[in-house]
Amino acid sequence: MGDIVIIGGGFAGLEAAKVLSKRRSKLEQRRILLVDAKSHFDFLPILPDVAGGRVDKNHASMEMAQYLENLGVNFSQDEVVKIDTDKKEIFLKSDHVLSYEFLILACGSVTNFFNDEKIQRVALKCDTSDDAQMLKNVVTTYPTKNILIIGGGYTGIEIASQLACLLKRKKVKKYSLNIIEKGEDILGVLPGWMKDYCRINLCSLRVHVHTDCFLKEVNDQAIKLSNGLEFSNYLLIWTAGVQTPAFVQELKHDKDKQGRLYVGADLSFDKNAFAVGDTACFKYKDKPLRMSVQFSLCQARVVASNIVRSIARKKNLVSYKPLDLGFLVPMANRKACGKILFFKIWGFLGWLCHYAMCIYRSLSSKNRLGLAFDAISRMGKND
Ligand SMILES: Cc1cc2nc3c(=O)[nH]c(=O)nc-3n(C[C@H](O)[C@H](O)[C@H](O)COP(=O)(O)OP(=O)(O)OC[C@H]3O[C@@H](n4cnc5c(N)ncnc54)[C@H](O)[C@@H]3O)c2cc1C
Repeated sequence: MGDIVIIGGGFAGLEAAKVLSKRRSKLEQRRILLVDAKSHFDFLPILPDVAGGRVDKNHASMEMAQYLENLGVNFSQDEVVKIDTDKKEIFLKSDHVLSYEFLILACGSVTNFFNDEKIQRVALKCDTSDDAQMLKNVVTTYPTKNILIIGGGYTGIEIASQLACLLKRKKVKKYSLNIIEKGEDILGVLPGWMKDYCRINLCSLRVHVHTDCFLKEVNDQAIKLSNGLEFSNYLLIWTAGVQTPAFVQELKHDKDKQGRLYVGADLSFDKNAFAVGDTACFKYKDKPLRMSVQFSLCQARVVASNIVRSIARKKNLVSYKPLDLGFLVPMANRKACGKILFFKIWGFLGWLCHYAMCIYRSLSSKNRLGLAFDAISRMGKND
């Protein structure tokens, strides 16, 4: 009898730990161990608000050790560098080696710089609450820079709107804020009305959107774009793609181009090994599910059930059936657009729904109260 090891204490990993701990009596004395490179959980959907100075960093993160101790789950702060699924061994940066009987890979995704070391060195990203705080600090310290956000997806748009409002509050007038998008339009496959809504709102916030455009040259003095524009005194923010951590990409199992592991209906990718959340590529109606909190949480519950069923030697494991509750693109000036169930939603109501969801999904009452306070204190303020 071995351990149940969860790698990653994000939305999926902590949810799996919670469900397994509630069903401890069915685990036949097995130990649950969660390994994460960080000491704290970061609430990613609210990070753009931290970058924009609208949410306190402490309300977007939570120490994991105490949370897991309350669940009776062991915690090790260490980075996983390699997994051998044949020997069922996990190699850690500290040189320790763990063995597992059941494995849950829930290690999310990180910014993909496409192996460009130069860009990685000069660009800022928004993967963690520390990154978001750093973004805010740099923008407020050097407010007159030409800010270039590479990537016109959700994250790029949210960050652009947040920084625009931050600079407006700081009464900075001399700056330029730009989104650079390689595709024909922002927001990829999302519906046209959402793209239009966001474009109009970004325009009202003085954010310039450059589409069909990419970075041609980056040096310490200036950035050149493919459309001929050149920016000196720049600040580069990279939101142009994500990938799974390196050790996941090195696994011999099948993956998509972002390095997400293809999983079966029961979310396994190997015997007694499961992948969930951003680490998993689950195909639904022939399309991979997008990366999202709601899918991460549901997948974690399914995998916890499947581990309990495997221990009980049940023949059939539970199949994951995604239920899409919708999505929102929130922006800083109390506007958002998206779809909830079958309903289009936009404007202040959309923004409220985003905050309500973040408060509801927060893991501690301190974070919940903090976020509620941050949201209420913005109600009457027009950015
Ligand atoms: C800025 C931003 C805004 C977003 N907004 C939304 C939104 O509004 N709505 C929505 O649904 N989704 C949103 N998302 C996506 C959503 O946050 C992710 O889909 C979700 O967090 C995935 O959960 P996860 O548990 O798979 O991974 P994560 O929550 O990313 O957790 C992964 C954990 O694994 C750990 N880890 C990684 N590598 C290692 C390693 N080698 N060793 C040990 N530990 C490791 C990390 O430290 C981290 O704690 C947003 C994402 C970002 C970045």
